Amino acid sequence: MNFLHKSLITLALIGASSLMAKPTIAILATGGTIAGAGTSEIKSSYSAGAVTVDKLLAAVPAINELATIKGEQISSIGSQEMNNKVWLKLAKRVNELLAKPEIDGIVITHGTDTMEETAYFLDLTVKSKKPVVLVGAMRSGTSMSADGPMNLFNAVNVVINKDTTGKGVVVVMNDEIHSAREVTKVNTSSVNAFASPNAGKIGTVYYGNVQFLMQPTRKHTVATEFDISKLEDLPRVDVLFAHPEDTDALVKAAVANGAKGIIHAGMGNGNPFPLTQDALAEAVKKGVIVARSSRVPTGSTTLEGEVDDKKFGFIAVDSLNAQKARVLLMLGLTKTHDKAALQKMFLEY
Ligand code: GLU
Repeated sequence: MNFLHKSLITLALIGASSLMAKPTIAILATGGTIAGAGTSEIKSSYSAGAVTVDKLLAAVPAINELATIKGEQISSIGSQEMNNKVWLKLAKRVNELLAKPEIDGIVITHGTDTMEETAYFLDLTVKSKKPVVLVGAMRSGTSMSADGPMNLFNAVNVVINKDTTGKGVVVVMNDEIHSAREVTKVNTSSVNAFASPNAGKIGTVYYGNVQFLMQPTRKHTVATEFDISKLEDLPRVDVLFAHPEDTDALVKAAVANGAKGIIHAGMGNGNPFPLTQDALAEAVKKGVIVARSSRVPTGSTTLEGEVDDKKFGFIAVDSLNAQKARVLLMLGLTKTHDKAALQKMFLEY
């Protein structure tokens, strides 16, 4: 074999191994502004979810150099329409795809309104260590300075980064990486719409360059006890927001409507208005799980502060916000109605 032959074989091997090294990523589209289209680049009105996954991917050709991309449409909704059916469909599909050896990770495009809840739902129900990244946009694709393409490019870079493994489900928005448990939408219109108020972002991604700063500490994905593989629906849990001169009527309405759990977003350290507190105590007597959370954006709602939780039979949600406490209680109620066991979950997840 002469030098030329050897060189050609070496080049072919390098080429083959770099081809083999290219990861395969599934991009699951659910809708939202990232798939939104409007009629003007300088007006805020548009329809969320109008653009299909193929068009979305065509807008960011650079991702094809990073990974082999398989796009799939799960739903085409604004995320304010998110519901149990789509959550279960999405979680089951994520688990199915991640069980395939050829799939290295999943990016989910999603509306920003309820992205935090979907991220946390998946954080608790995905049974794989492979990375799952949620991404969205605050400006539609037809808007001036749309943020979707860069967010999607960054999300693909995060999902193929080896350091993302073991972090649970993460959200990538505006050059930041957030853990599913901590992230929340904090601005209705700015591209800087997400933060993790209790913990901070866990990393950054700048033009695809990923840097992790922290490791989430709560149990997630393979370490949770939740199994949605055979579920067709989830127990009803409602959130009630407290205020001075609050009522007992909404608690009664929630119970009459079939709520199995109520998240009460109380004042301060999860304090209900007295009349509401009495109604919540009555709900507990009827077998409804009442979990105290807070309308305050940071800190924890703790047991036995100003509320006699033992006497009323309430539990407390620790540092989850009310909308995520709802997600955990819905999943918790698929396992048990025991208050002590549910309380333990709020301290673990
Ligand atoms: N309300 C829509 C949604 O959450 C659009 C908002 C957005 O994606 O930023 O899907």
